[in-house]
Amino acid sequence: MLWRLITLVLCQACTAGLGWFVAKEGEEWVFTLSFALAGGFAWFAMDCMRGLRLLRWLRLGASADMSLGNGLWGEAYDRVRRMLRASNRLAVESGNRLEDFLAALQASPNGVVLLDSDARIEWFNQTAAGHFGFDARRDMLQHIGNLVRDPRFTAYLAARNFMHDTTMPGRESNASKPVKLSVHMHPYGEGRVLLLSRDITAVEQAEAMRRDFVANVSHEIRTPLTVLAGFVETLQTLSLNEQERQRYLGLMSQQAQRMQTLVSDLLTLSRLEGSPLPSVHDWVSVDLLMRQCEQDAQDLSRVLSVQPHDLVFERVTGCEISGSSTELHSALFNLISNAIRYTPVGRRIEVEFSLQSEGNAVFQVRDQGPGIAIEHIPRLTERFYRVDRSRSRDTGGTGLGLAIVKHVSQRHGAELTIESVPGKGSVFSIGFPAHRVRQALPGLALTPKVSFV
Ligand code: ADP
Repeated sequence: MLWRLITLVLCQACTAGLGWFVAKEGEEWVFTLSFALAGGFAWFAMDCMRGLRLLRWLRLGASADMSLGNGLWGEAYDRVRRMLRASNRLAVESGNRLEDFLAALQASPNGVVLLDSDARIEWFNQTAAGHFGFDARRDMLQHIGNLVRDPRFTAYLAARNFMHDTTMPGRESNASKPVKLSVHMHPYGEGRVLLLSRDITAVEQAEAMRRDFVANVSHEIRTPLTVLAGFVETLQTLSLNEQERQRYLGLMSQQAQRMQTLVSDLLTLSRLEGSPLPSVHDWVSVDLLMRQCEQDAQDLSRVLSVQPHDLVFERVTGCEISGSSTELHSALFNLISNAIRYTPVGRRIEVEFSLQSEGNAVFQVRDQGPGIAIEHIPRLTERFYRVDRSRSRDTGGTGLGLAIVKHVSQRHGAELTIESVPGKGSVFSIGFPAHRVRQALPGLALTPKVSFV
């Protein structure tokens, strides 16, 4: 302000001095005052010009720089410019933060929908678009009730009780491939709502599998238990002769054995699920494994029938598989015992371990049993799935054998394949990858029975 006064006074003083200088004799004071007044006007006009330039600069968006010199207008220009720069910086920072925030919501594995106070869609991420079939160009600002028409969702939206979530079928859900969504709304701000959606199909399936598993185990245990309880009651209430008593005790022992096998298979499965993967550095001799299996197979065949099966074991020597010997024995013997249990007595069962030209190996069990119809094959490795329920039970089957084989195979990077022709027989193979197979002694020749493919 002082600077303005100084410049005004200086301007007037200069023009007044000029007036005195150019004045005629006797008119000095009139000239001096007139010139001083004119100087004041000139100063005022210049001042207005600078003010108008500042206004014009503001009107044009204050983008380009200009110079207004020192003084009031110069300082006003400087301050306005600094304030504008600071607020621009703030706006850019807020914009960046908003973009980061939306990118984080976009990356969320859950569906996120932002609704305004009238339940109109303001924003949604890709996952929500997939869950509900929203289109970013078509559905923005649409009422969500018009787009998601499932009755459960409509009721949930209308009730506005967002303490709990609701479930509904996903957009692409159908009978063969059901998709289930959990939808939860959370109010925020002034009447706005954050909608979160989650695909819970896998969780629901796991829960259903757990329920089925518990029901199956209970059923499998209850059956022999009921039979056992019946025999105990019979023994307690009836006076039986020694022969009858022995027969009942034999049957009781069979049922107890059945329960024992079931529990043992269940424990094997749970161990397979809970233990770390078998090492790739522990090498198991295939020869030893096959000899053990052969011995066990002959014992089993003798136990099951008077006339044993025609068991043929072909194998390579000096070959090793990396992994767990217990698990491998369990898998291989499960396949062999199935072949023995389902193949009529006297028929041929061939067991072979063959090295392939690429360095991988295949363990194969071929039987001349009843075979399996094609529709059953994909389900055979499901727990408790049986094609011939009574034959399985009669021969001490638990319905868990192939589930164990599949698990062991997966844990060893191997693959179980089943080929079968009803009425002719079946071939169960486990293919081991090359990195799990080696020859124990370098240079040791393979036996002539090896089949190279
Ligand atoms: P189980 O203890 O009942 O044998 P598995 O899981 O080992 O259970 O086998 C599942 C079902 O697959 C069996 O119940 C049987 O119906 C069928 N199966 C398995 N192996 C054979 C085979 N070699 N020949 C015919 N059917 C078989």
